[in-house]
Amino acid sequence: MNFSEFCIQEYDKFYDEQIEFYSQYNLDSYSHWFYDQESELLRIYNNDNDEIYFEYIPIGSYSLKSNTWLWSWANEHSIEKNKTKTLVIKELGEKNSYSQLNDGLFECDKEECWDFAAITKNYIQSLGVYCVNSNDLLSFKLVIKVHGNKNSKEVVKLKQRTVDCGIHGKRRPAFVCQHLNLTERKGFHESFDTFRGMDLDNDDDFGAWCNECELVRDKEEEWNDVSESYAEIQLVCEECYFELKEFNQ
Ligand SMILES: [Zn+2]
Ligand SMILES: [Zn+2]
Repeated sequence: MNFSEFCIQEYDKFYDEQIEFYSQYNLDSYSHWFYDQESELLRIYNNDNDEIYFEYIPIGSYSLKSNTWLWSWANEHSIEKNKTKTLVIKELGEKNSYSQLNDGLFECDKEECWDFAAITKNYIQSLGVYCVNSNDLLSFKLVIKVHGNKNSKEVVKLKQRTVDCGIHGKRRPAFVCQHLNLTERKGFHESFDTFRGMDLDNDDDFGAWCNECELVRDKEEEWNDVSESYAEIQLVCEECYFELKEFNQ
């Protein structure tokens, strides 16, 4: 199958699901959008009471100025971690010698973007595709999850997914008791065993406390008002966390 035949096949497969996606979330009824690369959340809204949050994987973008497509995995300006998930499409291109899936940046027609989006949608578990148009850039997003509103636990958590550390820049958040530092060894107790760069489940955070906090927690038999106010947990970045771990352990 050549690439244009492949595109027709994949677009056919994609089309009905995409229509269904739009009607299920009534996406034509919203006039505004906003997305945040750090939390990889896309907000589509009319006002604060009429909004929807989508967690997304960036697919790629099309420049209306240069008529070029740029796959997100090749986009050095994107800080979106999910972009690496689109590497399966690059692999697909390598296997089948479809250079359009394999080259990071190339010239093409605007219409072809929807083929690239359709292929991505068909190969990565997702709900649909949303395209936002800002200035001269069309940005295609693969929607992987829906969040009801901005106060949902997930949205708040996603917003806090990175901290901007004065020393290490943008990193994942981690939490440590107020006593841990890099000048005096105080012991290091964790909520679970950790190592640098490990993947975390959505519900897990890096968390650690010192020997004294452990004594208080032990006495209270849990984290409660007493043990928590003793620990006075602070937000630090992931790198800081592991520096503290190496020093205090
Ligand atoms: Zn402590
Ligand atoms: Zn740091």
